[in-house]
Amino acid sequence: MRVRCPGCGRLYSSLIPPTCSCGEPLRITYDYDSIDPSAWRDRKPGVWRYRELLPEVHEVVSLSEGGTPLLRAKLGGELGLKIFIKDETRNPTGSFRDRLITVAVSYGLPHADNGFVIASNGNAAASLAAYASRAGRPAYVVVPKLIEQGKLNQIAALGAKVIRYGESVDEGISYAEGLAEGKGLYNVTPESNLVGLEGQKTLAFELWEELDPTHVIVPTGSGSNLYSIYKGFVELREIGAIEELPRLIAVQAEKCSPIASEILGVEPRAEPTKALGLYVKNPVMKELALKAIDESGGTAVLVGEDELDLGQRLLAKEGIFAEYASAVIVPALLKLAEEDYFERDDRIALVVTSSGLKGHYSESRERFSVGGTKLEILRLLSEKSMYGYEIWEALEKPLKYQAVYQHLRELESMGLIEETHRRGRRVYYGLTERGRRFLETLG
Ligand SMILES: [Zn+2]
Repeated sequence: MRVRCPGCGRLYSSLIPPTCSCGEPLRITYDYDSIDPSAWRDRKPGVWRYRELLPEVHEVVSLSEGGTPLLRAKLGGELGLKIFIKDETRNPTGSFRDRLITVAVSYGLPHADNGFVIASNGNAAASLAAYASRAGRPAYVVVPKLIEQGKLNQIAALGAKVIRYGESVDEGISYAEGLAEGKGLYNVTPESNLVGLEGQKTLAFELWEELDPTHVIVPTGSGSNLYSIYKGFVELREIGAIEELPRLIAVQAEKCSPIASEILGVEPRAEPTKALGLYVKNPVMKELALKAIDESGGTAVLVGEDELDLGQRLLAKEGIFAEYASAVIVPALLKLAEEDYFERDDRIALVVTSSGLKGHYSESRERFSVGGTKLEILRLLSEKSMYGYEIWEALEKPLKYQAVYQHLRELESMGLIEETHRRGRRVYYGLTERGRRFLETLG
């Protein structure tokens, strides 16, 4: 693996940001001329089968990820097309993110004595929780306010420390970077560290070995999966395995469409969608995702909220229970088929990224991450508005003032408290309506 900035020549090692300090985008490369893909055939399926095209690690932290089934879709028969489903729900924690995390955790292990951190809207956080446990290190996960209950349950059961921050996942990225620096954690957030994307790209290698697709349809939130798949196919071209890239098709929700809207030339929207995994308002990897679509000759499709259930039902007919954020690919496929986008001999791969078992968004999630000190703060604020120092004194606990300030920020980001007024430099906080209801439900 090599990471040298094509602009200024700077070399990168342990933490590899997506962009060089000089502003040039970075890319992890290998000695492509020396790689012979026929060596892969005799190895067992999975991410590490492709080790020549992965970062070198001292120790592999694995739960046997990748090597997921490719199923022929019955739906293809009805549409007169060759359609295959790459079932990523069969990964250890139920999503494609295990590919990213096995590589990022294995690579980061020597730098993670204090643990790992990630900003994620759920799947990558759950995956990090599992792999960090496996490696015997703490995991800190920064997840947004809007997240499915099932994902929170999974993360907590696997023992990660949960920090709720921001409404959509992109807002947590710099927060996670701050935590990494403050606590000396290894940050595996894909927007902050390119190493994990190397694991995600193995999806492309598997698709090539099993199908050699002409089209790959990918649910797209942050754009990181789309970009990794693109990078995987570009490398297959570099080593001479393929001549042309398959067309990459990004699917987004109509309600949150920062990437697809650019391709389709429509006004972008950035509202919460039921397909919560795709709710990324300002994707850091937008330009890379656009490049992937553009260079592969692909396109983008927008899917409405009322089409999500249909997507889930049609996948269920194939025997697969997918989350909404994955189910979007089916209505997208139907739209493209209706427009005669495909030809009869095309080999079309649908990537089902994550299991539906992780559940839907639910209000009851709040109860989960509000612990002792936060509850005490809420109870204090239920009596009157108070400012930070006043709260710190009233708590009568051996806490640093900064810790109280942090609790206040988190309670505010969860929508349970708000600023009521200021007096001089003092900022007073009080309960929101939601905070009041929340306390009531606890009795
Ligand atoms: Zn540079």
